[in-house]
Amino acid sequence: MHFTGTVWRPPYEAWSALLQVTAGCTHGKCKFCTLYNDVPRFRMSPVSEIEEDLRELYRYAPDSTRLFLVGANPFVLSTEKLKEIARISKQYLQRLTSIGCFARVTDIAPKTISELKELRVLGYNRITIGVETGDDSALDFMDKGYCAADIIEQCRKLDCAGIEYNFFYLTGISGFGRGKDGAEKTAEVFNRLAPKIVGASMLTVYPDSALYEDILLGSWKEESETEKLAEMRALIERLEIRTHFAALGASNMFMLRGDLPSDKEKLIADIDNIMRNYSEEEMRGYRINLKHL
Ligand code: SF4
Repeated sequence: MHFTGTVWRPPYEAWSALLQVTAGCTHGKCKFCTLYNDVPRFRMSPVSEIEEDLRELYRYAPDSTRLFLVGANPFVLSTEKLKEIARISKQYLQRLTSIGCFARVTDIAPKTISELKELRVLGYNRITIGVETGDDSALDFMDKGYCAADIIEQCRKLDCAGIEYNFFYLTGISGFGRGKDGAEKTAEVFNRLAPKIVGASMLTVYPDSALYEDILLGSWKEESETEKLAEMRALIERLEIRTHFAALGASNMFMLRGDLPSDKEKLIADIDNIMRNYSEEEMRGYRINLKHL
């Protein structure tokens, strides 16, 4: 299989067959992000390479029903290209019913609702969007390249097309003293949409990120671990939609998951217990020893 650099996929895609169709990120500017530092330039895989990998998948996992396209944002590819990838994939994996990938909010913008419907018919569904937050000042400071209104506008297009989506939320992105405010603003945005999963990660600042420079310059200050937990608690508390909340993955010292609204009280009680039983120093120790996400 052709895999370039570190392969990232959401925890819930663990059972999906992975296929590289792009490498790296077309944006590459988010201040906190170091995920694709080992892939300096965005690259689209040639069809010959994709077919070679599909032949390999056919040999080892011919019964795959779900494919997860690898790369930071394969959904940036044109509708025609995504359609071609779906068609070729189905030639090799005949039981394939759905295709997922990471997408940026800006990847949806150039696609019309009728194009998105065509992609849905071909199997594109449950795409994962790293929206990070609905807090405009954090989105702007971190150079995410879109604002909260764009999240709503583009995800509503997915709703119209019947493409389900999951969100990644980045706890800590609003910065010191602003965590709860960021959570409230995010809940306002998420409550107007229909994410199937809200996956939360906790911000871990690495020295090779642009954000680290800002911290050294004194232009941005990190939230404490306790503030991050309070932020996550505030987000859960204010979410009014039916969704699955999941804080899984290494950036979270504590794994939490549950359905909303039914498990809301339990999730909040779990966070309260963590805040009672672990000191800031213990949690900070986990963070600074987290060598890799
Ligand atoms: S956070 Fe996502 S969109 Fe931003 S640079 Fe990293 S991979 Fe690209």
